[in-house]
Amino acid sequence: MFNNSLKKFINRKRETKGMINIDPLQAGGILTEEARRALIEWGDGFSVCDFCQGKLEEIKNPPIYDFIRETLPKFIGADVVCLTNGAREGKFMITHALAKSGDFIIIDKNAHYTTYVAAERAGLKIKEISNSGYPEFKIDVNKYEEAINEIQSEKGHMVLILLTWPDGNYGNLSDAKKLAEIAKKYNIPFLLNTAYAIGRMPVNMNELGADFVIASGHKSMASSGPIGFIGMKKKWEEIIMKKSQYFKKKEIENLGCAARGVSIMTLMASFPNVVERIKDWPNQVKKAQWFSEEMEKLGIKQLGEKSHQHDLMFFESEKLHQISQKHKRGAYFLYEQLKKNNIWGIKPGLTKNFKLSTFATTKEELEKVLKTFEDILKEN
Ligand SMILES: *Cc1c(COP(=O)(O)O)cnc(C)c1O
Repeated sequence: MFNNSLKKFINRKRETKGMINIDPLQAGGILTEEARRALIEWGDGFSVCDFCQGKLEEIKNPPIYDFIRETLPKFIGADVVCLTNGAREGKFMITHALAKSGDFIIIDKNAHYTTYVAAERAGLKIKEISNSGYPEFKIDVNKYEEAINEIQSEKGHMVLILLTWPDGNYGNLSDAKKLAEIAKKYNIPFLLNTAYAIGRMPVNMNELGADFVIASGHKSMASSGPIGFIGMKKKWEEIIMKKSQYFKKKEIENLGCAARGVSIMTLMASFPNVVERIKDWPNQVKKAQWFSEEMEKLGIKQLGEKSHQHDLMFFESEKLHQISQKHKRGAYFLYEQLKKNNIWGIKPGLTKNFKLSTFATTKEELEKVLKTFEDILKEN
């Protein structure tokens, strides 16, 4: 009875195959050929555990040990790296390890929803730093200092400062270095959420002055996922990676083991390619800025910081919204017309506001995207 419906997912050609993919969620997670092969080879459950002696990160064959202990820390300028099942799990592990119920976390208003739920699950009170509002929605990190003073004057206790870098809505890159100085001044640990950064652009947590970074393999490191990691300063290792008193090799915050399967193998298989693609980041930024300018020539406005420093962008179009109000397909017309032109990634039902990413696409493909928008605006 269940078999037939489940079988539909087998041999079903994914709709994105061969399409121009501008979905911000997917652009940095598309697998490399190497990762695709690793996916088949290591797809069986617990496949990486053949040679495990009680701790995933210590497996020498496949070379997870070297990857976690040396390669990744060097790559992001961290003292210590610990694997997680994603960025959100990293946030939860950190907040849970640091917090006592009723403590504060200070976060930016552009934070991802997973920041909220991780903090909620850890029993933290959330203090938001507002953004500048329409049209740039910038975060002024000086406001964190005001918030710290406010909480201190009310005798509240803060355990963490968090900045989303860039945020997942507008792709804004706020002044992380400056915030690190503020955090240091008040001796509050500083977590930089780099789910949209590590794997796309150069990130060095030591240079930035963060205590923690969190990364997402399936968001930005060409991995199947779910997988991510925490990069941290040495001084946090014992707190975040505290061992069970019953099982001396097992860590409490990751429930003993995190990415115990194929996801770590795709992360490692793609890694050399990820290291290479980061070198191209200045060109990625140029491409995004060019695309934004061309969209604006069509009357589609880019919100968020300008000039933009990231491939994730948020657009606004009054005209597309007006078209949707009289179009027979209503709000779905934009999604459908883009799809007909082999363009994938703008959510069905969106017309006035939508996000997209230029990360996985060539300039030629983006020219086609622009031409399609131009035609849609003209023909409707
Ligand atoms: C996508 C995203 C996340 C969630 O990543 P997971 O690895 O799936 O937990 C967290 N924060 C930001 C800013 C994101 O864009």
